Parts: sequence; C-alpha cells; structure tokens
Amino acid sequence: MNGTEYNRKAMKNMECGKCGGSAEGFKCEVCGDEMSDQPQTHGCGADRCLPKCTGCNETQTKCTCL
Ligand SMILES: [Zn+2]
Ligand SMILES: [Zn+2]
Ligand SMILES: [Zn+2]
Repeated sequence: MNGTEYNRKAMKNMECGKCGGSAEGFKCEVCGDEMSDQPQTHGCGADRCLPKCTGCNETQTKCTCL
C-alpha cells in the first residue's frame, strides 16, 4: 500500500464555481493567504477561504477567467 497514492485519490477534484474550470487549493478572499487544504480556523474567517481557480489564481468569487 502506498500512502501517498491513497491521499492523492482521497483529495476531491474541485471546480471553480465561477468559470467551471478546475480549482486547486484554497485562498482567503480577504487577505490573499493561500493554503492547500481548507482551514478549520482562519483570522479572516474559515468560510472566507475559498477554492482557488487554477486559471487566474483567484478565489472562485473573484475569478476573472470569464
Ligand atoms: Zn474560475
Ligand atoms: Zn485571510
Ligand atoms: Zn479564474
């Protein structure tokens, strides 16, 4: 068993809610902090950390791909 492989498969493929492209990792829409996983807590509020669009590197609320 390969643990790394398992983790990769467990990761959900995310979709940018704005343009429908792929999203990877999370970004805080307030301070611009980037993280690989959605944080449980964050200074600006965990719910401000949104999936990051891979096209423009912005959160799905600020996506400029369209
Ligand atoms: Zn997008
Ligand atoms: Zn923040
Ligand atoms: Zn985008």
